[in-house]
Amino acid sequence: MSAPNTTAPAEIISLDPATGSEVGRAPEMTPQAVVDAVNEARLAFGEWKNTTFAERRRLVMAAREVILAEMDEIARLISMESGKPVAEAMSMEIAPVLDLIQYFARNTERLLRPLKVDIGLYRLMGRSSVIEYQPLGVVAIIPAWNYPFSIPLGEAVMALMAGNTVVIKPSELTPMTGLKIGEIITKAGFPAGAVRIVTGGGSAGAALVDARPDKIMFTGSVATGKKIAAAAAMNLTSVVLELGGKDPMIVFEDANLDLAARAAVWGAFCNAGQSCSSVERLYVHENVAPELTRRIIEQTRLLQQNAGLDESASVGAMSSERQIEIVEGHVEDFRASGASVETGGKRNASLGGLFYEPTVITNATNEMLGMRAETFGPTLPIAKFSSEAEAVRLANDSEFGLTASVWTRDYKKGRRVARQIEAGTVCINEVLYTHGIGQTPWGGFKNSGRGRTHGREGLMELVQPQHIHTNRIALLPNAWWMPYTPTALATFRGFATKFATGSLLKTAMLLPSLLKRTLELRRSGGKDPR
Ligand code: NAD
Repeated sequence: MSAPNTTAPAEIISLDPATGSEVGRAPEMTPQAVVDAVNEARLAFGEWKNTTFAERRRLVMAAREVILAEMDEIARLISMESGKPVAEAMSMEIAPVLDLIQYFARNTERLLRPLKVDIGLYRLMGRSSVIEYQPLGVVAIIPAWNYPFSIPLGEAVMALMAGNTVVIKPSELTPMTGLKIGEIITKAGFPAGAVRIVTGGGSAGAALVDARPDKIMFTGSVATGKKIAAAAAMNLTSVVLELGGKDPMIVFEDANLDLAARAAVWGAFCNAGQSCSSVERLYVHENVAPELTRRIIEQTRLLQQNAGLDESASVGAMSSERQIEIVEGHVEDFRASGASVETGGKRNASLGGLFYEPTVITNATNEMLGMRAETFGPTLPIAKFSSEAEAVRLANDSEFGLTASVWTRDYKKGRRVARQIEAGTVCINEVLYTHGIGQTPWGGFKNSGRGRTHGREGLMELVQPQHIHTNRIALLPNAWWMPYTPTALATFRGFATKFATGSLLKTAMLLPSLLKRTLELRRSGGKDPR
């Protein structure tokens, strides 16, 4: 919602999707302002990379204290800008990011401890290898609007703990939450330039990509992800892409149906279905399909929909008119293709804003649009299967692979099925929430993304491994150095056939020719030994 004006600088006006009222304004920053921010962050990196883990931990934990002190105000801001219930702002953004902060504050030093590598027979020659993890420089974070606080802040904390500085370009739908992150960082006492917030729309994001950051952490749609990957390639900037999902939930005959029904309702309708890991397809064994569906419909009818600030609201508003129109298109397609809409299936006319009723759909099949494209709205389409193999085939029949869930009381079967599902995270008797476990890697297979955030794997995206190799008995020239001679070639043959087997015994047989070669090199003293 840019409001370009010929006299005043352009602004983004942030609106509450539940009421249409203004939440705040943020500048639509020019490409030059974005470049300036990256330069400031780069300048700050010079000092920040040399801070100790203890110093980083102190500042990150101070930011955590600021959040705790302002928790309710932050939750309300998130709710107003994104439309989500204030309860979810607390449970799905603030609580998980506080946990992530304490974890990486306390554990990054251990996770990035230099790693000694076993280099096998090279050790016999006095060599040793250690990997140290160096920060990258400036990390650009370009998030979506759906978790506007926890995703960028969590990634920023990990980047900072690893010794990087950060520039965040919040979504144009949630700029005030982005600016709040900047305010928290300032209050915590971070040095100027350690974290810069640049507000604006897609063009500010594109300017950030072009400003040559050292890494881009992107969360958003596949289409934008492809654009960013292409632009980043021009500067060989590496990118982590956290993209869309079409996550399946598989419910077997032996599942706890009451839990599965409640999980499906939460997994499909929390954040009004606008989570990358929302349950977007439910596959249930045909023998329990009627019972599970009955329970899901019953649970759905209990949900209260209202503006996020209503503490009893379970389903809030959607983020934008564009998003609600996508949902309408998918539901219309379900109807036209022969599926049945059991509840909802329309905007909530009793509420003024962008509200779509939680919608349960039965008789869905994988051919329907709403089972293939990401809906990103409060819909729960249900399809049936009759065998384990069919469930796996249906679940994998998608361009996406972010998360999946398997519901069964047979854990062996659960793990067997989980391993066959093409998804970055598969839960057994759990759903959606593992982004909230900062200790575990998050990321997708297939079009759901590249690279990882969170966990040790996510931390590794924010550093570059540096191999430090030492020769502690550097007295003689190496046998493989120049000049080459027939003796050299014979020794190299021995390297190939004996040393390269990794066997100490076979390598021992190489000693006579190695000795000959070493004496030859010593005698030559740099002169041609022939
Ligand atoms: P989007 O792709 O429209 O926008 C994401 C961000 O990219 C915004 O900040 C936007 O301003 C910026 N942007 C747009 N064009 C750009 C360009 N050319 N260069 C640089 N930046 C640009 O996505 P969205 O609608 O905000 O988010 C919804 C999507 O995000 C869904 O597909 C959802 O599944 C996905 N998502 C994924 C995860 C995950 O962890 N995998 C998490 C949350 C959301």
